[in-house]
Amino acid sequence: MKIATVLRNDDFSREVCRMLREKLHARPDNLYRFVDSRNDRPDLVVSIGGDGTLLEAVHQYGFEPTYVGIHTGHLGFYADWRPEELDEFISALEQPHPFIAEYPTVQCRIHTSDGQTHHKWALNELVIRNASLSTLVACVYINGEEFETFRGDGLIVSSPSGSTAYNKAVNGAIVHPSIEAIQLSEIASINNQAYRTINSSLVLPKHHEVELIVMNPEIMIGLDREQAVWSRVRSITCRVGGDKVKFARYKRLPFWGRVRNSFIKD
Ligand code: NAP
Repeated sequence: MKIATVLRNDDFSREVCRMLREKLHARPDNLYRFVDSRNDRPDLVVSIGGDGTLLEAVHQYGFEPTYVGIHTGHLGFYADWRPEELDEFISALEQPHPFIAEYPTVQCRIHTSDGQTHHKWALNELVIRNASLSTLVACVYINGEEFETFRGDGLIVSSPSGSTAYNKAVNGAIVHPSIEAIQLSEIASINNQAYRTINSSLVLPKHHEVELIVMNPEIMIGLDREQAVWSRVRSITCRVGGDKVKFARYKRLPFWGRVRNSFIKD
C-alpha cells in the first residue's frame, strides 16, 4: 500500500507523522511504502492536523486516493483518529475492505468576459464576496430561471460536508453527507424597501444548477482554503460534482455524533 502524508505546519503534527512512519517501517511485512507526490499515485493519504489540513490534502492529491485523518487538535469532521490511537490505527489499516464514505463536492464553472470557462471544485464550499468592502451584487438563477438579485456581503455554495463549516456560521442547514446536494447561503444580505432576497438557505438536489451573474468588476472567490481576486467574472455556475472524495472509515463515528461533539457537547 502506497501512503502519502499531509501535515499541519506544527511540531506536534510533525512528531505524530514521524511516529507513524517509524511504526509502519518497523513492521516485518513491508506492506507500506511512503510516497510524496501525486504522480506516485498513493492508495491512501493520511492527513495529520485538522479539517483544514484534510482540505489541503484533497486538493493536493485529488479524487483517486482514499483519505483518512488523524486530528492533532479538536475532533473534526474529516478526521477520525487521535494521535494516542496510532497503534489501533495501524492495526485498522490491515482491514482489506474498510467502509468507504464518499462525500459529494461542489462543481463550479467560472465564466469570464473574455469567453473563458475555468473549471473548479470544492469539498467544503465556494464563497464569493466583493473584492472591496462594498456590496456584492449578483443575480441568482436556478435552472436557468431568474430567482432574485442578491445585495450583501457574499454568497456561499456549500457541499453537505461543508455545511458544518462557513455555511453553518451564516445559519445554513446542516446536511448529511449521504445527501447529494448543494446549498446556497447568504452572507449578510440587504433586505429593505428597495432590495429583497429570500433570506433563507436553499438546498438544491443533484440535477439542479445555480448560476450567479456577477455585477461587480472584481470579486473575491474562495474555494475551500484557496482564495483569489478575480476580474471580469461574468457568472459562476455550481452543481453537485461528478467526483466524490473517498474517506476510509475504519471505525464507526456517525455524522450526527460528530455534529454533537463539535457544537453541543462540552
Ligand atoms: P481557518 O480559518 O484556519 O479555519 C476554519 C475552521 O473551520 C477550522 O476550525 C477548521 O477546522 C474548520 N473547518 C474546516 N472544514 C470544516 C468542516 N467541513 N466542518 C466543520 N468545520 C470545518 O481555515 P482553514 O483551516 O483553511 O479551513 C478553510 C475553511 O474555513 C473554509 O472551507 C471555510 O468553510 C472555513 N471558514 C469559516 C468561516 C466562518 O465560520 N465564519 C469563515 C471563513 C472560512 P480545523 O481546526 O479542524 O482545521
